[in-house]
Amino acid sequence: MNNVPPLDLARQYKLIGEDVSAAVLGVLASGRYIGGSHVETFEQQFGAYVGVSNCVGCNSGTDALYLALRALEIGSGDEVITTPFTFIATAEVITAVGATPVFVDIDAQTFNLDINKLEAAITNKTKAILPVHLFGQPVDMSAVMGIAQSHGLAVIEDCAQATGAQWGSSRVGSIGHIGCFSFFPTKNLGACGDGGAITTNDPAIAAKVRMLREHGMKARYYHEETGINSRLDAVQAAILQIKLRHLDTWNAQRSSVAKRYQELLGLVPGIVTPQETVGGRSVWNQYTIRIPTNYVPTQEPGKEGDGKQSTSLPVTYRDQVRSKLQQLGVSSMVYYPLPLHLQPVYKHLGYQPGSLPVSEQACYEVLALPMFPEISVVEQEQVVYGLKDCL
Ligand SMILES: *Cc1c(COP(=O)(O)O)cnc(C)c1O
Repeated sequence: MNNVPPLDLARQYKLIGEDVSAAVLGVLASGRYIGGSHVETFEQQFGAYVGVSNCVGCNSGTDALYLALRALEIGSGDEVITTPFTFIATAEVITAVGATPVFVDIDAQTFNLDINKLEAAITNKTKAILPVHLFGQPVDMSAVMGIAQSHGLAVIEDCAQATGAQWGSSRVGSIGHIGCFSFFPTKNLGACGDGGAITTNDPAIAAKVRMLREHGMKARYYHEETGINSRLDAVQAAILQIKLRHLDTWNAQRSSVAKRYQELLGLVPGIVTPQETVGGRSVWNQYTIRIPTNYVPTQEPGKEGDGKQSTSLPVTYRDQVRSKLQQLGVSSMVYYPLPLHLQPVYKHLGYQPGSLPVSEQACYEVLALPMFPEISVVEQEQVVYGLKDCL
């Protein structure tokens, strides 16, 4: 039997390779490599896709989040509420602008921010809520916007894993004040390198991001603020234009893959499968199951018994299943092994093991199965039958 990879971008390239190569060669021949019509056209097309009046490209999803916080003038002394169960970039940018991340626990079912715990985390320093549509599953944006409005807070959506996902009839990235997207190759709309964008219906925010992404400059060589260099490359914009045409098809294929996993895994006892939130439509960037473990928050992850800092985490039942599965040729992934509130980098914030128990338990239990639009039925069966053998 062949190995099943967690994802396989080469298969996608086979399908669209000719168009992509032609687009890249077109940019190379044009002599216009920074800015220009490829970037502008992509910004228009992507804004229209998301359903907003403004889109500004930038160098990565991380920069999109950073620029969003800067555009809202969030900085030193401010607090931003977010989830501890996400990629580090989400919180890293809050720290980078000088503000403090305030972590709120997640919902066990969706892995997203627990809406019922949001309000208690709001203080007079809170400036924004930064929900993450994790694994492609939209956050309950009606609830988030309701709470934000009643407290006068901004909402920045981290849409890095959820391009195309919907809450009600709206695409994510069009509901909060700013949407932040990543075009990292493994995301639903991935470039052939780094890339990102912000989306907004507020032209003033868009103008400010445009200024900040280009050294804080409006008129050439006159600098109004300390900015950065964060542009979307013309080559990547040309590639993204082509891939955007296929995005809905690929997302629909991911949805079929998820449905098939759901059917096949129904026969496997002892695991918990992901469910789509009522009112939302996931785009399945990941298909993440849980392998239940008895979690006792005693030992601080990242610490040995003697108190020395270590990078080793306790081995859970999930880890044992994962290595057995690997021996059967099935590659799975763990997103994420350690929640952000217990990361060494956030030690100074003073969170203890047990302070956000739902996130901590998720870190012990989650296993992301191979998920990409082109995965075959035979491969999915290999994953599921393999898993059955390992449990
Ligand atoms: C990938 C990712 C980012 C960062 O995007 P980059 O383009 O890699 O900088 C931010 N947030 C989440 C949730 C992500 O998955």
